[in-house]
Amino acid sequence: MPLVPELQELTVPWLHQGKVRVSVLRTDLIDPLISGNKFYKLKYNLAAATAAGHNTLLSFGGAWSNHLHALSAAGLRYGFQTIGVVRGAAPVSLNPCLADAVAHGMQLHFVTREQYREKHSPEFMAGLHQRFGDFYAIPEGGANLAGIRGCQEILSEARAARFSQVVLACGTATTMAGLVTTLSVPILGIQVLKGAAYLQQQLQALLAMHGLQARAPWQVVDDRHRGGYGKVDAELLAFTEHLSEESGIPFEPVYTGKVMMAVQELISVGHFPAGAHVLVVHGGGMQGLRGFK
Ligand SMILES: *Cc1c(COP(=O)(O)O)cnc(C)c1O
Repeated sequence: MPLVPELQELTVPWLHQGKVRVSVLRTDLIDPLISGNKFYKLKYNLAAATAAGHNTLLSFGGAWSNHLHALSAAGLRYGFQTIGVVRGAAPVSLNPCLADAVAHGMQLHFVTREQYREKHSPEFMAGLHQRFGDFYAIPEGGANLAGIRGCQEILSEARAARFSQVVLACGTATTMAGLVTTLSVPILGIQVLKGAAYLQQQLQALLAMHGLQARAPWQVVDDRHRGGYGKVDAELLAFTEHLSEESGIPFEPVYTGKVMMAVQELISVGHFPAGAHVLVVHGGGMQGLRGFK
């Protein structure tokens, strides 16, 4: 089933100064539960699990992981058992994200931050197999070749052709890897976590690991993370809320809201030439907004 997310032009006052147009690719709307770019990253992972005869999926994430949330919903929909390995001690009561995951049938396994750091090691995986038996493992954030393949379907070259630039939020860079290997329009990745040059290295490493070549010219911005992953200050939260109201498009502050704030700043300093038409990929993940209410 091809999924073609809607395109919507942003109409907000701050766009008039720079004479830049901004449109939003609404991957947040493609599915009510398996949200945004996570749907694409899971698509071929589910197919690979099925082809290999697995009926249990296991993956990793933090307590507000959009990836685990989407995985739990996909498991329920497509008939897989799911196991979520969650970073940090088991809380006294589950937050809304993890409560949803459990309601979708996901079994949660909490591990310390130290253990979580070693999550992809053979020893840790062996321990998980001893405990849970057979499963198909998906890396954190769906960051494998199957994940990239799915993300290659987010935007076709024909649809991208009328834009001067595509902008997106990047965590693992899997989504960006999908776009840079498919499109020829320039792509700008906004790193939402801390670490100078992290995104550039991560993207290059992902492409090299899977023998992929970038087609699109690409650039990264690594200094608009506002303190790090999930760091949301009052100004960012207010900006995101105001923008959602003003535009009628819901944004959350961890990913796409942070990107929109970066886009506004980039427009104000003249980063995009007059007449540019920027396409921002809305990555979904609106469930995470409940963490800031
Ligand atoms: C997971 C996520 C991202 C990051 O995607 P990567 O492929 O890991 O870079 C961006 N936006 C949203 C809404 C997400 O949930």
